[in-house]
Amino acid sequence: MTYARRTTRQIHVGPVAVGGGAPVSVQSMTTTKTADVDGTLAQIYALAGAGCDIVRCTCNEQEAAEGLARIVPRSPVPIVADIHFHVEMALAALEAGVQCLRLNPGNLRKSSEIKLVASECRDRGVPIRIGVNAGSLHPDLYEKHGGATPEALVESAQMELAYFEEVDFHDVKISVKASNVPLMVESYRMLSEVTDHPLHLGVTEAGPPPAGLVKSTAGIATLLLEGIGDTIRYSLTADPVEEAKAGRQLLESLGLRERKGLDLIACPSCGRAEIDVIKVASDAMAALESRHLPIQVAVMGCVVNGPGEARQADLGIAAGRKRGHLFIRGKIVRVVPEDEMVAALVAEAEALVRDGFEARLAAADAGAEPEAEADRRALLTAQGDDPNAVEHKVDLIRKH
Ligand code: SF4
Repeated sequence: MTYARRTTRQIHVGPVAVGGGAPVSVQSMTTTKTADVDGTLAQIYALAGAGCDIVRCTCNEQEAAEGLARIVPRSPVPIVADIHFHVEMALAALEAGVQCLRLNPGNLRKSSEIKLVASECRDRGVPIRIGVNAGSLHPDLYEKHGGATPEALVESAQMELAYFEEVDFHDVKISVKASNVPLMVESYRMLSEVTDHPLHLGVTEAGPPPAGLVKSTAGIATLLLEGIGDTIRYSLTADPVEEAKAGRQLLESLGLRERKGLDLIACPSCGRAEIDVIKVASDAMAALESRHLPIQVAVMGCVVNGPGEARQADLGIAAGRKRGHLFIRGKIVRVVPEDEMVAALVAEAEALVRDGFEARLAAADAGAEPEAEADRRALLTAQGDDPNAVEHKVDLIRKH
């Protein structure tokens, strides 16, 4: 299933296309001092490894700009310089060779300075993100609209765009972030009606996980499902690698980016569980994640419902009677001792990626299905009916 995306013009942040039908990109921001070149590069490499397409670094002082000059040529992904207040930092970041600037219209307010930066960007072919933020809105707009309303955020972006247009600069993406999710969603909806520039989505200052993840996902996913948004950033009070992972996972789960890594699904566990599902799932996650296998793996707590409930998973394991039933797309291929479940899952995942589904289904143990069925029957006898097999009860009810 795919979602219709809003049509926008396209810009390029270095080699990464944004808008105009390009894949939605993932962004994050370093938390190191930008002057710390090695520390910042280490974080950029970690972010790129976690699926981040574009990284932003603050450029708040001369040492930061000098750091950017050393970071940009060694970075595996394009770098955006984050600018607040100081026009000279914007110009210094351009000299450092950054692939994009982020300007905050709320604190870089002089039209002459805004137009100077836009002219420089135009001449150098460097795009700008207009980064409106509800928390640092231009005071005049705050007063005019009686607060940080969607109308005020959108007007701030439009004022900045008008300055850019005066100097014939159009290489722009826009964000209108707020920490309040309904305000953020409404602001982007309104903005998407009045501009065809690509939009950078984010819930600003969302806080630490899990609340920060929930808020960010609520805002970003709502808009993406409406076709709005071309690049995204989770703003978490956490290691930025968590932001990149969350962004990537959201896009993969919405089918907006190809699966790059593992998708682990696990049952929530219940009274039927034959194992500690939480432990087995986290052991499997730890063992599989580092291998970057692009498959969906299920860990199910019981053999009664497990394989059926996770039939759509590429590979899975369900526990029962001190054994694990290993299944590929719902078909039992092996029965393994309980203490070998995670190891068997990892080995089969690697074999599946290496040899393909047909080969691994052909290599299934012939006795696995009947053995698994015997376990299932024994558990049904011991635990009671399959909670999903209710048809005979319905028949009895109808006879009354
Ligand atoms: S798979 Fe089994 S243990 Fe897990 S939630 Fe379903 S019935 Fe419960």
